[in-house]
Amino acid sequence: MASGTHAVVLGASIAGLLAARVLHEHYDRVTVVERDRLPEAGQRRGVPQGRHLHGLMERGRSIMESLYPGLTDEVSRLGAPTTEVLVRSRWYLSGLRAHPTPTGLTTLLASRPLLETEIRRRTSALGVRLRERTAAVGLLTSAGKVTGVEVTDNEMADGRTEAIAADLVVDATGRASRAPDWLAAMGAAVPGEDRVDVDLGYASRTYRRRPEHLDGDYGVVISTMPGRRGGGAIRLEGDRWHVTLGGMLGDHPPTDHDGFTAFAATLPVPDIHRIVSVAEPLDDAVPHRFRGSLRRYYERLASPPAGFLVVGDALCSFNPLYAQGMTVAAQQALALRECLPDTGGDLPARFYAKAARLVDIAWQMSTNSDLNHPGVVGDRTLRTRLVNSYVTRAHRAAHIDPAVSRTFMRLANLVESPTALMRPAMIARVLWQSTRNVHHELVPVPARRPGE
Ligand SMILES: Cc1cc2nc3c(=O)[nH]c(=O)nc-3n(C[C@H](O)[C@H](O)[C@H](O)COP(=O)(O)OP(=O)(O)OC[C@H]3O[C@@H](n4cnc5c(N)ncnc54)[C@H](O)[C@@H]3O)c2cc1C
Repeated sequence: MASGTHAVVLGASIAGLLAARVLHEHYDRVTVVERDRLPEAGQRRGVPQGRHLHGLMERGRSIMESLYPGLTDEVSRLGAPTTEVLVRSRWYLSGLRAHPTPTGLTTLLASRPLLETEIRRRTSALGVRLRERTAAVGLLTSAGKVTGVEVTDNEMADGRTEAIAADLVVDATGRASRAPDWLAAMGAAVPGEDRVDVDLGYASRTYRRRPEHLDGDYGVVISTMPGRRGGGAIRLEGDRWHVTLGGMLGDHPPTDHDGFTAFAATLPVPDIHRIVSVAEPLDDAVPHRFRGSLRRYYERLASPPAGFLVVGDALCSFNPLYAQGMTVAAQQALALRECLPDTGGDLPARFYAKAARLVDIAWQMSTNSDLNHPGVVGDRTLRTRLVNSYVTRAHRAAHIDPAVSRTFMRLANLVESPTALMRPAMIARVLWQSTRNVHHELVPVPARRPGE
């Protein structure tokens, strides 16, 4: 550890906190700069998505557990239930229930604020300094290298700024990251971008849970599919249901009581509607609009400036339907840790190369699924069409075959690579079982558009 070294992380959300956790092992001081006031608990302005379902995939949970030993037990102790992914919780893929079989995967059913608060508490307890109400407004640079960050007190409108010197600045400010502008301002190359627009709308609400709801099960997830709406109802800390409804391509759920309940009735299966039509609402529904997945190709920069990294949603923001963002942020934290013993000038290039391999997998999975919706604009290569047709068959096979169901869930949880579904024995199973299950296929009915 070089004496007196300082790393500054911009953004105290999941990606920023996990990055700070691994930086702490290699830098004398780590400071996290966050624009928001950081509450003891509960929602905050800079993370509006915290009001919506936040499934934590097993790969993400196990990485977080390795970084913060005892995290799962602690969050459970605070009331979040844990369960096996497919036992006592229901997953519907292409409208058919994935066979309820043990998968070896744990689901930690915590609200996003509870998980973030606990990770923040533990990161701070390590000695990482959290500076709340402090917004990053630009980079300090010298000879093409980033040497620190310029910040401002977010609640003082006097325009005064402060310079914080740093050996490394990590941008974890999320999808709206201004890093491309900052790089341009220092005369450095700016990364290319890819977007897949889905115009996804969410509406979410919490309800009091009663033991008889969902026959005592812990949750239900109904994935969207072409022309059909989706949603989830998950049991959370405080014995509540967190219900999120979603629709793609402008088919957004309403937030008024009757509209929300009526939207739930149009899902391919009735489980969520059964809950929302009898349970006591605890708050009003809140909306969220997600325009599209956004990837920034920092790994393609010939010589990214030394002293500066971009992580998390600032690097790649995924369609939330597939619940990948927190897990990919956790994978990036491990990638950073692998790169870190050497903090030399090529750290950014080494990190981006590693991160790109992880992002590629999740990006392919989510954008392929998006392109299965005919209204989504994008390049449908022969490979994309073949994969999507095969995945639809895998959904059908997973309804009756525990081995397919298990494999599908393990790869959706980023525990296994997508090639697990491509092994010859698995392909044979999928093809045979999906043919047997042809009678169970749900005929897609176009969702009603607003105003129809
Ligand atoms: C509707 C929705 C649902 C989602 N559901 C899931 C899910 O089910 N599962 C899952 O794994 N992921 C989900 N995600 C993604 C997940 O929220 C993110 O991937 C995760 O929070 C990691 O993002 P991040 O930390 O990079 O950025 P963010 O969470 O966006 O946080 C950025 C942070 O930077 C701060 N900030 C911004 N600008 C500045 C500045 N200039 N200076 C200082 N601080 C700044 C913000 O206040 C905020 O704290 C969902 C996202 C959305 C939008």
